Amino acid sequence: MSDLQFDARLRSTGRIAADIDVLSGPRYTSADHAIRRYAYVPEYGATLDFLATEFRALGFTVEHDPVGTFVARNRQSGTPVFGIGSHCDSNRNGGAYDGTLGVVTALEICRMNREQGLDHPLQVIAFLEEEGSGFGQMLLGSRIMAGLISDDELAQIRAIDDERTFFEHARDAGYAPEDWRASGRFLDDLVGWIEIHIEQGRVLHDADEPIGLVTAIAGYEHGDVTIEGRADHAGATPMRMRVDAALVAAETTVELERLAIAAGRGTVGTVGELTLEPGWINVVPGGARMSLDVRGTDDEAVAVVMRDIVAFAERSALGRGGQAVYRRRVHVPATPMDTSILDALHAAAERCGEPFRAMPSGAAHDTMCVAAHRPTGMVFVPCDEGISHSPLERAHPSDAALAAEITLDAIGALIGRA
Ligand SMILES: [Zn+2]
Repeated sequence: MSDLQFDARLRSTGRIAADIDVLSGPRYTSADHAIRRYAYVPEYGATLDFLATEFRALGFTVEHDPVGTFVARNRQSGTPVFGIGSHCDSNRNGGAYDGTLGVVTALEICRMNREQGLDHPLQVIAFLEEEGSGFGQMLLGSRIMAGLISDDELAQIRAIDDERTFFEHARDAGYAPEDWRASGRFLDDLVGWIEIHIEQGRVLHDADEPIGLVTAIAGYEHGDVTIEGRADHAGATPMRMRVDAALVAAETTVELERLAIAAGRGTVGTVGELTLEPGWINVVPGGARMSLDVRGTDDEAVAVVMRDIVAFAERSALGRGGQAVYRRRVHVPATPMDTSILDALHAAAERCGEPFRAMPSGAAHDTMCVAAHRPTGMVFVPCDEGISHSPLERAHPSDAALAAEITLDAIGALIGRA
């Protein structure tokens, strides 16, 4: 590494750390023990105002789309630009880095773009409501911009805090949400998109690698198995005469672990919700409901695990004299990243000289929605112990500075090629 490169990384590290520091202050969170900000609350508005000031100082124009997604660009609308960014809303009990680190790293890329005299055409997006903390809908801003939602669906969305509609809140905040389809023009101008985000797992942390290049974002299926057994007296009913719904749920949970491991290719399966009816200590459970969350970057593997676990639950219930029924909540296919963007990031990461790895993203990101229209990539930076969605979340500005260097280098190569 040259002295110049060392100085540049140090400068970027300092500026990213300072921005994170500002946005962790009391003006930018409505909770004192955690970061909590979401669409249309004053703390979220203050966050966008801070970003607007910083981008205007770099000569960028700042706009909001019809629902409040933040956009800053150094070219006129209608001109091709390369997109970078993430989101700056938080989990209700969140940390300072999820999403926000990607936005302030995008800001740092814009600073470097100017300092190095590159003047690449850039557009930064900070998507509204990625976490769903305000309205219970994940990826809301990016689904709106990508047109992956309907008028009917939007009209149904209500705030968690006061049950008023999303449209009412957006109007009160000064937006024109009925024009939401006009948001798509911000994607129309993109020649490509790279999101920088903390990993939210512990793969990079454990391997002591500062950079991850995302190959694909996992798809997932969410659903529920409802099990019908028979509620009986827990003392008077001999073991062999029971139709215990809890036992079907227990067997199915263990089988899900086995199936996910057997499927390999990064497939994971989780039973996160489990309720028993009537749920009393002295009654054999007559009913159970268990959630299924199966994810992976290999759609075929996810489909096989889903098919086999549902068949297992049905067999297990029948074998005990009950029945099990599966109902899907949502299915989202995996999102592979664009190979030319991934190649450009790979070459840039090699030039930067630090260890990195290609890896899937287990968590969902706004980039899934952008990918419906444009070539996309993602760069991960580690978070300590893999902790995220918690006030204990920590990431290192020096890793984000590396991500900025790699991303800007890759954009230069991609634009030069176009
Ligand atoms: Zn996030």
